[in-house]
Amino acid sequence: MAATVIDGKALAAKCKARVAKEVESLSRRPGLAVIIVGDNQASRTYINSKRKDCDECGIYSEEYALPADAGQAALMEIIESLNGRPDIDGILCQLPLPEGYDEEAVLLAIDPDKDVDGFHPINVGRLSTGQPCFAPCTPAGVMEMLKEYGVDPKGKECVVVGRSNIVGKPMGMLLLAAHGTVTICHSRTKDLGEVCRRADILVAAVGKRNIITADMVKEGAVVIDVAMNRNEAGKLCGDVDYPAVAEKASLITPVPGGVGPMTRAMLMVNTLEAARRHGC
Ligand code: NAP
Repeated sequence: MAATVIDGKALAAKCKARVAKEVESLSRRPGLAVIIVGDNQASRTYINSKRKDCDECGIYSEEYALPADAGQAALMEIIESLNGRPDIDGILCQLPLPEGYDEEAVLLAIDPDKDVDGFHPINVGRLSTGQPCFAPCTPAGVMEMLKEYGVDPKGKECVVVGRSNIVGKPMGMLLLAAHGTVTICHSRTKDLGEVCRRADILVAAVGKRNIITADMVKEGAVVIDVAMNRNEAGKLCGDVDYPAVAEKASLITPVPGGVGPMTRAMLMVNTLEAARRHGC
């Protein structure tokens, strides 16, 4: 059975169109500030696409590009001033920061109600205790995809491969909140294949090309590939051996065109939500 391919690009466009429509009914435009430190090319590319997304959604965006040697104090000063700005609803500091910066201090400095990335420990705590929060954009985008394609995690075996703070752990929390039976795997998991084969919903978030092979996937499973790797030719690819796994899965995300666009769309959704919280 060949899997149905989840069209992340189309779904992201739909989400952004919904945000744009809702923005029109607000008392003012939501505002998103993005901070980038140093000249990491990948970060620069993300930031440019975020600006484009904001334009599409009618969200006001502001960008702070600091040189790598700007220093922690300068960065903290910008965050402090953005925290106090009534026209800025969301603040995002593009990670990773160059060497010498204290990332944890930066995440802690962002007002939790402007933390549209959902990385502040207060939002992490709110997510794990089932309170309203900003969920990190990548796993939130995966949940949106499951919903759109009629996949209810309730009672299902959900296996997440990867336990990072930005993807694996919050992904597990969101699936658990949706009543999935969740297992989170990592580099010390014994017999990864055996655990993955149990999955009705399998989420791969490792960053190693082809780590998920067809023999690790149950017939009819839903397979979500979060990873963004490069093959020898420099082409973007995920963790999943796509052609072989697509023959066994019922639903599968491509890379590119799967989770990536949804991550971007969920940032717009979170910024809209932040604006609402700020009384718009
Ligand atoms: P990360 O922080 O490097 O985490 C990778 C996780 O994979 C770790 O928990 C690690 O386990 C686990 N792992 C490593 N080798 C393993 C193995 N052999 N078996 C099982 N687990 C293993 O990465 P991340 O930030 O979560 O990102 C994961 C991937 O998603 C990357 O490719 C990244 O580029 C991509 N990503 C995509 C988006 C998007 O929008 N599509 C967003 C964010 C990230 P340990 O904890 O034991 O080390």
